[in-house]
Amino acid sequence: MTKRFRSLAIIVFVIVCALVSSLSAVTVLVGIPMPWAAVVIVCTVILGAGALYLFTAALMREEKEYHGADYAAMIDSITGGVLVLDGNSRIYTVSEDARHYLDLPENAIGMSKADAIHDGELLRCIDRAAHGESNLTEFTSHGVTLRVLVDPVIFNRQIVGTMLLLLDMGEQLTLQKLKREFTANVSHELKTPLTSISGYAEMIATGLASEKDVPEFAARIQKESKRLLALISDIIRLSSLDEGSEAEREPVDMAEVADECRDVLLKSAEDRGVDLELDTESFTVEGSRSLLSELVYNLMDNAIRYTERGGSVFVTVRDRLVSVKDTGIGIPEEHQPHIFERFYRVDKSRSKQTGGTGLGLAIVKHIAEKYHAEIELQSKVGVGTEITVRF
Ligand code: ADP
Repeated sequence: MTKRFRSLAIIVFVIVCALVSSLSAVTVLVGIPMPWAAVVIVCTVILGAGALYLFTAALMREEKEYHGADYAAMIDSITGGVLVLDGNSRIYTVSEDARHYLDLPENAIGMSKADAIHDGELLRCIDRAAHGESNLTEFTSHGVTLRVLVDPVIFNRQIVGTMLLLLDMGEQLTLQKLKREFTANVSHELKTPLTSISGYAEMIATGLASEKDVPEFAARIQKESKRLLALISDIIRLSSLDEGSEAEREPVDMAEVADECRDVLLKSAEDRGVDLELDTESFTVEGSRSLLSELVYNLMDNAIRYTERGGSVFVTVRDRLVSVKDTGIGIPEEHQPHIFERFYRVDKSRSKQTGGTGLGLAIVKHIAEKYHAEIELQSKVGVGTEITVRF
């Protein structure tokens, strides 16, 4: 019983008592004959008791409705939902979300466990809970993976039912899966160059490599080490982007950024016989200079690496967009939706041969998202590729 309810009931009781005593006093003072006075007092007591009864009943009803609504709202607000089975394994309470995930009808209350739940593992957990054992399991429904806690409901040291708490962990479980895949990929990517570095170094150290092979082996060791370093710095870049660590923000002139990237990449373009042209007009983006530079660098570096000798790369910076277009090998349509994924490569050997890490476009995507920029890809095999970033 709530405090509010108790105090109101006491007030009404006191008023009725006061009324009865005043009436008794008045009858004595006015000198009404005793039998009539008794009738008036009895009537007043009956009326007072009736009023008190109606009043308390109304309050109790209101309180019940209030708490009912409260519990229903509480249960419905649990993301993933709740289902309670009574001692006869029939549904006692079910929240909206639980009804949705377990595909239960509107009038599920009273349904038997066997009719309501069809997942074998969930049924086994319920049986174990009915014998006092707490269980934790996973359940996938409507494309969402839920973690389900199945517990006995205990009252007065007796098991009176079972409760299923369905927790929507979809996003977290997907993230965990992505993390596991990423770790497996990283280990694999690190192992490959390290194996060849250690193989060549061993041949030199044990004298197995002839003197004329040594410069070539040393060059391979150097190339693989460079790739390893590039890979490690890309991994570090990605994990700091994942952590969301806020890099310093400043107004960055994107035309300046593109010019700086051209200066760094000009030698590589010349070595590969690729023409590199820029057409820029200043516009600024509020952000980290090094991240924005990384974005433009990765796009230009890819365009150069995936373009055959004699081809061209055009970089346009204006109207809040950066576009990098090449006349390179192009990307087959079926691969296009995946190239921004971590470690996804269309041609693994070409990527490795040209010093690719498989992380360049994943970094580009991450940085673009950070600055709410949109990426657009247009590509045709044998014709070329254009990637546009709109800020
Ligand atoms: P990588 O280090 O392998 O280049 P990226 O993440 O930068 O990794 O790119 C992913 C894949 O997308 C590349 O392996 C390549 O197959 C393809 N790709 C990216 N840019 C281009 C481009 N300009 N032309 C053709 N293919 C490209």
